[in-house]
Amino acid sequence: MNKKIKSIAAFSAAAIILTACGTVAFTGRKQVLLFSDSEIASLSEQSYTEFMQTAKESSDASQTAMLVNVGKRMTAALESYLSKTGQNNALMNLSWNFKLVESNEVNAFCMPSGKIVFYEGIMPIANTPDYIAVVMGHEMAHAIAKHGNERMSQQISLDMVGFVAGELIGAKKGETAQSLFDLGFNVGSQVGILLPYSRKHEYEADRIGLYIMAIAGYDIEAAPKFWEKMSAGNNASSNDFFSTHPCDAKRIEALKEALPEARKFIPAGR
Ligand SMILES: [Zn+2]
Repeated sequence: MNKKIKSIAAFSAAAIILTACGTVAFTGRKQVLLFSDSEIASLSEQSYTEFMQTAKESSDASQTAMLVNVGKRMTAALESYLSKTGQNNALMNLSWNFKLVESNEVNAFCMPSGKIVFYEGIMPIANTPDYIAVVMGHEMAHAIAKHGNERMSQQISLDMVGFVAGELIGAKKGETAQSLFDLGFNVGSQVGILLPYSRKHEYEADRIGLYIMAIAGYDIEAAPKFWEKMSAGNNASSNDFFSTHPCDAKRIEALKEALPEARKFIPAGR
């Protein structure tokens, strides 16, 4: 590329970044989102459908019911809060769904489109509605904070000059979106793994998860307790929650520090 094209490209890159700025619900943090919500949602739905074709739904009706109840109560509370506070944008193209699948893995995930999956292996630790709400809130937070889109956008930003110089437009951009998505959310098979989020995203999801718990009337004190239980039983295998959710004293400390702020979200009269 000659110098002039390069500088035009750099200028356009800056313009795109400025116009593709989003704001994270609850925290107000600014983020760069280069993919549309519908683009991300369709990739998510595709990957989720593939996953559910290979996964087996749990036959434990009572655990499944507990999970679905917590999920519905949390999403209802979250949606009403976001709409009251003018933050509906965080819910764009989200359609929530909660599944418990057969697997000994201590794990759970949420697709960016709102499809939340718990593995049976996490249930002995998440054995009360409050503990389920800890995991659920954290996973829902990744979705409403659009961490998947942001992570994919960060990858694109690294090659921004090429991107705006027209090398990655149209079909090419779709291909790029697909491969970046696959890198982050390879859940196409039961042994699929999710690329860990950055520490920044993990801490933000913990914090927002607490707020959602508070809004929905769950016991936020259960959050640090849950992570303490998790880290006590940490026999990390490569596919479990610890590979995507590093759980250490610093993280539990940060959760405890966020409790007073989270208490402000508890509805009056509770
Ligand atoms: Zn996470």
